[in-house]
Amino acid sequence: MITRVNAIMPPARTPGLALAALALVALGARPGFCAEGAARSTPPADLVLFHGTILTVDGKDSVAQALAVRGGKIVAVGTDREILRLAGERTRRIDLNGRTATPGLIDSHAHIADGGIAELYHVHLSDVTTVAEAVQRVREGIARLKPGEWLEGDGWDEGKLAERRYLTAADLDPVSPDNPVWLNHTTGHYGVANTAALRLAKISAGTPDPKAGTIDRDAGGAPTGVLKESAQDLVGDLIAPPTAEQRRAGILQSIELLHREGMTAVKDPWIGRPTWDAYAELLREGKLEERICVLWSAGATIDSALQALREIQSQPRPPRSLGDGRLLSCGAKIFMDGSGGARTAWLYKDWNKNSTGVDAGNSGYPSVDPEVYRRQVRLFHDAGVNVGTHAIGDRAIDWVVDTYAQVLRDKPTKGLRHSIIHANIPTDHAIETMALLQRTYDAGYPEAQAPFTWWIGDTYAGNFGPARSQRLMPLKTYVDKGILWGGGSDYPVTPLPARYGLWSSVEREALKGTFGLHPFGTAESVDVHTALRSYTLWAARQLFLDTRTGSLEVGKDADIAVWDKNPYAIPSPELRNLHCEITLLSGKVVFDAHHHDIHDDQGAPHGQN
Ligand SMILES: [Zn+2]
Repeated sequence: MITRVNAIMPPARTPGLALAALALVALGARPGFCAEGAARSTPPADLVLFHGTILTVDGKDSVAQALAVRGGKIVAVGTDREILRLAGERTRRIDLNGRTATPGLIDSHAHIADGGIAELYHVHLSDVTTVAEAVQRVREGIARLKPGEWLEGDGWDEGKLAERRYLTAADLDPVSPDNPVWLNHTTGHYGVANTAALRLAKISAGTPDPKAGTIDRDAGGAPTGVLKESAQDLVGDLIAPPTAEQRRAGILQSIELLHREGMTAVKDPWIGRPTWDAYAELLREGKLEERICVLWSAGATIDSALQALREIQSQPRPPRSLGDGRLLSCGAKIFMDGSGGARTAWLYKDWNKNSTGVDAGNSGYPSVDPEVYRRQVRLFHDAGVNVGTHAIGDRAIDWVVDTYAQVLRDKPTKGLRHSIIHANIPTDHAIETMALLQRTYDAGYPEAQAPFTWWIGDTYAGNFGPARSQRLMPLKTYVDKGILWGGGSDYPVTPLPARYGLWSSVEREALKGTFGLHPFGTAESVDVHTALRSYTLWAARQLFLDTRTGSLEVGKDADIAVWDKNPYAIPSPELRNLHCEITLLSGKVVFDAHHHDIHDDQGAPHGQN
């Protein structure tokens, strides 16, 4: 196994790494290699990839030319000469022709089931740039509905709108007099309802804010249509949940996109029984060609946590899985606070507005009673179950890491890998605690989404303000402190392709540049070697799949992505344009951009199969 010390690639000492890209892996006494005379006794490889650049992401960040696969596992990594020697007449040969292979990329936080449903069945708003454009999309969507039917949309973000303001019911009402409308913000932590939907939800000026939620109001106290955090449920509970068929279709939709992007494993956080059933059914049908680890939603009460615990305990405990590493019931998810978009995340100091303004009196709030949260975590921890907690604000993150520290002290358990999901602005205390928990208990891992600085970066920069923005997602500090993290997208909060995460980890560039292209600075940037590790081996760790995938090493599953260019060699601004050409899962080609590139000379020249 790769040790922690080796796994960290310090960006400050990277000049040597560029050279390392030229040096080939030293071929030690690995299984699969044998002297010429003994070759006959080893069965030939099923598959070889050769004439390429293989970024192994092993402990030495070794680079090879070729690799061989047998029975879905990597059996050798080395030079063309060494690998081609392992090919027999039935071996499938993929000539990389100078292209680059990496481990299949891994997302430690992506809502692929729900995101796929939104992609297939909802109105898309992630690319609209004006209020009028959003309204036009709603108008077109309504035209396909009968009066009274709900219209759902997803993906808007005021930071991308020229008007730089929320959508409101008043915007939507003229085109939706007879249909209730609900449009999710891209973060999923707020959204906008039209007046028909507000009426069905019985929301009026006299409705008090629910616990841990906000009904946005105009100067006169009337609801604007924007509902934040738990207030969203007032409308959301009225919308029929997706059908089983829609869930299946949504998952398959996302898996197809993952394959196109060289991504072979994902943690889907915040699922319930219907989504689990959809995954399990697809697995039984042989259609789950992706590694999925799920977190069950623990809710905001002890009862809801107990219910999640029962579901978790009825499944194999990770790293055990269903379908040989395909489906893992990884643990429980809890929300500690809200969003950096909605200015609801729990902070020590007030939120900003438009970067330098102050949202006076608003420092956010916890999503769950902090004491209840602590009891929930203890419940899962004492049962030996992994916990992932959503925590964005500095105050929320402190509460989460202190809770982890406390339950781990009370019942020391190694390897549960409790995580801090998002961990956007950790304090120095939180960072020290993460480092300590990782060293001592193999727990306390941030699951960070570098693309937040890009896709919702303009909204974020405005809300966090100049000072806090500098320390947002402090990846470089993590490296310096020996902290490992899992990379992710939080899809559909940001787009799913992990190449955006590689790029954002290095560039930290905001989409529009409303408050400058680099409102988060670049002091917390990491180099591409580290970024790749966070989207492969370190993410695998957070899915309990690190002994099986996340690096290209002998004995691991052949989960591989082939790219048009070498991410270690191209200028970092180009990382986001990497083009995936081939994706393999357990040695099976699940995506091939140009079918003709694969020379399927598996032979059977004598009519045999
Ligand atoms: Zn999420």
